[in-house]
Amino acid sequence: CGIVGIVGANPAALRIVDGLRRLEYRGYDSAGIATLVDGRIERRRAEGKLGNLAAVLEETPLAGRTGIGHTRWATHGAPTTRNAHPHATARVAVVHNGIIENFSELRTELEAAGQVFESDTDTEAVVQLLDLLLAQGHGPEEASRLALKRLHGAFAMAFLFADHPELLIAARRGPALAIGFGDNEMYVGNDALALAPLTPRIAYLEEGDRVILRRDGAEFFDVDDLPVIRAIKATHVSG
Ligand code: GLU
Repeated sequence: CGIVGIVGANPAALRIVDGLRRLEYRGYDSAGIATLVDGRIERRRAEGKLGNLAAVLEETPLAGRTGIGHTRWATHGAPTTRNAHPHATARVAVVHNGIIENFSELRTELEAAGQVFESDTDTEAVVQLLDLLLAQGHGPEEASRLALKRLHGAFAMAFLFADHPELLIAARRGPALAIGFGDNEMYVGNDALALAPLTPRIAYLEEGDRVILRRDGAEFFDVDDLPVIRAIKATHVSG
């Protein structure tokens, strides 16, 4: 239900938790974070309140300057740690708001292709689809473009890729998604409020947009896959 991501110059995990706290008003049943540590995807997840995730992070801290976090409001699969986002393989991690309507048909197809699922969520169909495309040799940008074309439903999502410490890809079809411009860092979140402690400089994705975030900026693509400019606005939400 809430998404926060950082492509960063500084440690990300606790700043992602701060952002997620600012999205608590939306409601949620579990939470989680994934970051890149030496190019590998590392995760921490917990059922219940963000305090539970914070306790897990205190016990087993998560390094890494690039990462994604999520507060989940379960629609498919019970509100357990195993079903909490981010969902991930060794190659890719995903956080997702909304519903993938054709997840069941995708799951059948991906299992037939040898992908092994480990949750009951609709979201994991996206992870396994990206994983298969990456395994077939597509780079993160192409894999994301191809995967998004296969998805039906309303969603906001962010993707993190192993061995790509300076990259996040996000997409919007339905729920709002904001991009924050920092000082040699970039951010993604549901709204300006979530990103307020990080930056006041915000651009919103338009319906159908996909965005490639690197530390030094954002490349937006519209619903027809054409490069577009999305204006940066200075927000006045207090940090
Ligand atoms: N449909 C997804 C799930 O149940 C995402 C729910 C959400 O928006 O938090 O895991």
